[in-house]
Amino acid sequence: MTLLGSHISLKAPSYFKGAAEEAVRFGETSFMFYTGAPQNSFRVGLEKMGIPEGKRFLLAHGIDPALLVVHAPYIINLANRSDPGKLRAMEEFVRLEIQRTAEFGAKVLVLHPGSRVGQDEETAFSRLLTSLEETLGDYRGPVRIALETMAGKGSEMGSSLEELAKIRSSFSRPELLGFCLDTCHLNDAGYDVTDVDGLLEEVDHFLGIENVLVIHLNDSLNPRGTRKDRHANLGYGTIGFSALRRFCFHPFLERIPKILETPYVNGLPPYKKEIAMLLSGIYEENWKESLLPLDQGSPMAATSSS
Ligand code: FE
Ligand code: FE
Ligand code: ZN
Repeated sequence: MTLLGSHISLKAPSYFKGAAEEAVRFGETSFMFYTGAPQNSFRVGLEKMGIPEGKRFLLAHGIDPALLVVHAPYIINLANRSDPGKLRAMEEFVRLEIQRTAEFGAKVLVLHPGSRVGQDEETAFSRLLTSLEETLGDYRGPVRIALETMAGKGSEMGSSLEELAKIRSSFSRPELLGFCLDTCHLNDAGYDVTDVDGLLEEVDHFLGIENVLVIHLNDSLNPRGTRKDRHANLGYGTIGFSALRRFCFHPFLERIPKILETPYVNGLPPYKKEIAMLLSGIYEENWKESLLPLDQGSPMAATSSS
């Protein structure tokens, strides 16, 4: 059984419990969430998030909370030391986020490597490493950081496998760092994602396939190498359904969570439909047009169907 799921948002009032229910409704065997809004660092107290209830629900449905994935907010930039006060707050936030990840039972926190924002490459790189040392240098616990492959939009770092490998090998505790392969970002950064075996061979060469902790399974709106980062629904982009499906059943990736971050359709998550197509291998042309609320697992559909 491959590990396949999507990004699910934690919403009031039931937060983690509600997310767990939604994941099961979509047919997922893993999922990813932000512990609050992705674009800020405001966080609701863990005691209000329904964690024990969510864990119990997941275990009852055969999902191991240890295989869930947390994504750090994307405002975090550990490479920018222009404002020391702000940077220290970010380092502190990442440390807290690692603790929070563990509280949910998860073991992987996805982190964007950072942005150079006006600094030259070398300066940004050494600042990122200093921040990683200060944030993780003395960490003792079960969580690993998965550095995400980035599209290279603006001054984003981490758009080449070489650079990501160099971050890991330059860090004093490389065992704490793994990687998240985002198929849209890899495509936009110039990699041929349709050649799955070739890509994974390259990944193994630079990163070590055993250090791949998460796959973000997204089609891309843009051609290879355009450095854009615009996700598309499965089959609606330049990568295509069949290449993306190969990630789900590749023997190297079976026990790695594959997480959809594809856009909502008509304001609703399309993941139930996308997952069903990935599992069956049957792609329905123009599936978005025929999407029923039921296929999107909306709360209305859920109450009327169960
Ligand atoms: Fe990301
Ligand atoms: Fe991603
Ligand atoms: Zn993206």
